[in-house]
Amino acid sequence: MNAIRPLRTPAELAEAGLIAPEELAGIEAVAERYAVAISPAMAGLIDRSDPNDPIARQFVPDPAELTTTPEERDDPIGDLAHSPVEGIVHRYPDRVLLKAVHVCPVYCRFCFRREMVGPQGLGTLSPEAMDKAFAYIADHLEIWEVILTGGDPLVLSPRRLAEIMQRLSAIDHVKIVRFHTRVPVVEPERVDEALIAALKASGKTVYVALHANHPRELTPEARAACARLIDSGIVMISQSVLLRGINDDPDTLAALMRAFVETRVKPYYLHHPDLAPGTSHFRLSIEEGRALVAGLRGRISGLCQPTYILDIPGGHGKAVIGPDAIRENGGCHTVADFRGGEHVYPPEG
Ligand code: SF4
Repeated sequence: MNAIRPLRTPAELAEAGLIAPEELAGIEAVAERYAVAISPAMAGLIDRSDPNDPIARQFVPDPAELTTTPEERDDPIGDLAHSPVEGIVHRYPDRVLLKAVHVCPVYCRFCFRREMVGPQGLGTLSPEAMDKAFAYIADHLEIWEVILTGGDPLVLSPRRLAEIMQRLSAIDHVKIVRFHTRVPVVEPERVDEALIAALKASGKTVYVALHANHPRELTPEARAACARLIDSGIVMISQSVLLRGINDDPDTLAALMRAFVETRVKPYYLHHPDLAPGTSHFRLSIEEGRALVAGLRGRISGLCQPTYILDIPGGHGKAVIGPDAIRENGGCHTVADFRGGEHVYPPEG
């Protein structure tokens, strides 16, 4: 049943036992609208006997994606509002996104850039566009960090990645290069010596932000791929999306964050799902999200705590939306402990 190459068409999904023949027509309609790819590692991880398998829900198209709600938008986090040149998003003063490629090894059904990625998406930056993007970074001395995202930058060949790193290494004011990727989990075999060598550049500190949403994604192969990156000197952090039916329960979230920490990947962001088109079946309310995140406090180590964030629609950036432990109370403060008990600070007498 395990695929040896990515599954990209509804017929291939049916052949692999991931959709039933009677579902084919509905899934074909979704595949005409949004990109589909499931890597062999992820196809092999799906439990075909579980109709709600959390890995399948992330990658197998669902006819619910054809329902778009009024608040959903093609560019949910407002990349375009902050794109001075093609491929660059400059939303915050000291950092830019460099979107070199809009291809991914898998296509997540809840993707926030689903209108931009895939075979019909924005593709790979042309050499001329790359020149302009690097010129922009070089001209803006306030850019301290360059974040390669897309798409998944680690689908680029080691030769292309090395070229990018060499060009960045020539820009003195850039100190940090960060890659946002799903590759160590969904295609761990790609993380080989050549790829790791390509991520290095003299004078730059390299971070890899790993996107995973369910603890089962941290397979032994994925953990080994992360170990290869980390042992080479790269720092790893995590990012996950809070998703209904995938990780919206305290046990799964706790297991996911612990799996990251066990893998030496520091939990970083837990994203509230964005208003991407056709994704309302994945969204939970902010109140539900805050309650889940509050439940992690005290239950799991401080090392395991992610920051719960919302990308404000329209391109206004990220806001921390996790539960507050403290509130003002007539000249002093009331602080909640992890069991929900309240205490006045400073304590009286
Ligand atoms: S890997 Fe990232 S950019 Fe690619 S489909 Fe998934 S969420 Fe979207």
